[in-house]
Amino acid sequence: MFLSVGVRFEANVEALNMVETAGNYTKHRRVPYLVEEDGKLKTVYVPALSGESLAHAYQEHLAREALSIGLPVCDDCRRNEFFKSMNKAHLKKKIDPIPEDPKKIEEAIVKACVIEDVGGFLYAEKPPVRRTSAFQVSYALPVKSAALFATSEPQLHARHAQINASSKKGNVSEQMIYYVETGTALYGFTFNLDLDAIGVSAITSGPILEEDEIKARREVALKALFRMLSSSQFGAKLSRFFPVGGITELVITVTEHPFVVTSPIYNNYIDRTQKRLAVLKEFGEEYFFTVADENKVPEEALKEAIDYLREKGAF
Ligand SMILES: [Zn+2]
Repeated sequence: MFLSVGVRFEANVEALNMVETAGNYTKHRRVPYLVEEDGKLKTVYVPALSGESLAHAYQEHLAREALSIGLPVCDDCRRNEFFKSMNKAHLKKKIDPIPEDPKKIEEAIVKACVIEDVGGFLYAEKPPVRRTSAFQVSYALPVKSAALFATSEPQLHARHAQINASSKKGNVSEQMIYYVETGTALYGFTFNLDLDAIGVSAITSGPILEEDEIKARREVALKALFRMLSSSQFGAKLSRFFPVGGITELVITVTEHPFVVTSPIYNNYIDRTQKRLAVLKEFGEEYFFTVADENKVPEEALKEAIDYLREKGAF
């Protein structure tokens, strides 16, 4: 089974993805973006959140959900340091001595860590072993029709320190001025999850784990997504720049084989997704489709998808 989610969220005054600091100026990630204006195409630079940033947040939620029901998460991933068994030093914490056979290496890693099972890994030694992530996430980009209104503007902040006369040195400032570039946009992103890849070898396509554990891992993979969207705990600088806004729309599909919702950066993405699914049905493939908009909250839509998957025996 394959799950695909298109999310639209409004974020005002956010600093979710900062890329560099030059002096006292912290810049927001920005990407070139093709938009149409008066029938002509042009490129504008818009605030964006990287897929890497969203994937990191998802894996943090996944680690927490997995641990809460006693599923294995390795020490590195527990600390949200996703090194992913990248070399001998990290792999040795899971299996020692390290086997020669790539299949045995993959098996040991998958058994030891839900994050590397679901999120993939790259062991870059001899022999190299690679496992593709079972989940995919796009960049979050401004919705096309509103892209020209997306902004990133520096905001002035000051930090104060009380310095008494005796400790005051020549050029120590009592007030530090700094700028944080904040973004404001209606963003859209896509998240996919291939439930059939969890607990299954990427080398042999055979199961590595018992069926019960595979089902438990699929369920936590869904719950982690639920938690991430419901709590808006993704991106950086949440402590002082928690974005003002929230999810405005969300589309979920569950199909037997891979199918990805039409990107939520387009205004007609709900209709188009439905039309594309209708064709799939003509091929005899069953599917699940739901939308959260003004009538349904995102949590209800996500719960419906989880219930459908449970009904279908995914967990
Ligand atoms: Zn791990």
